[in-house]
Amino acid sequence: MTEPDPSETLFERIIAREIPAEIVHETDTTLAFRDISPQAATHVLVVPKTRYRNVGELAAADPALLAEVITTAHRVAELEGLVDGGYRVVFNTGSDAGQTVFHVHAHVLGGEQLGHFGR
Ligand code: AMP
Repeated sequence: MTEPDPSETLFERIIAREIPAEIVHETDTTLAFRDISPQAATHVLVVPKTRYRNVGELAAADPALLAEVITTAHRVAELEGLVDGGYRVVFNTGSDAGQTVFHVHAHVLGGEQLGHFGR
């Protein structure tokens, strides 16, 4: 299935501070902010400031930036006190996985016992 490819997504507007978000961490290349509709006690999104549609495109084009996204996700887990209990990092990719914003983002989920995932 072909996903929409608008020239600007919601996340570019959050990165540009045109839309408010609760920012929890920022680096030169990434931004982390709370998900507006949390699916766990702690739910933070980590985005690269450069837009790629999904994690596969990011990995192919700029693996160092993907590593920075993962490093930021772990830093967020530290800041949010999730490391001891554990946390999950999810990249929804494409419509079957429920991807709705086509600017790659890592969901960082934790702060409670998470259920298994799948269907
Ligand atoms: P995905 O469905 O994997 O594309 O994830 C997109 C996420 O963006 C969803 O979990 C939404 O709840 C979240 N979201 C949508 N609008 C906003 C917003 N304005 N601020 C923060 N998170 C948002």
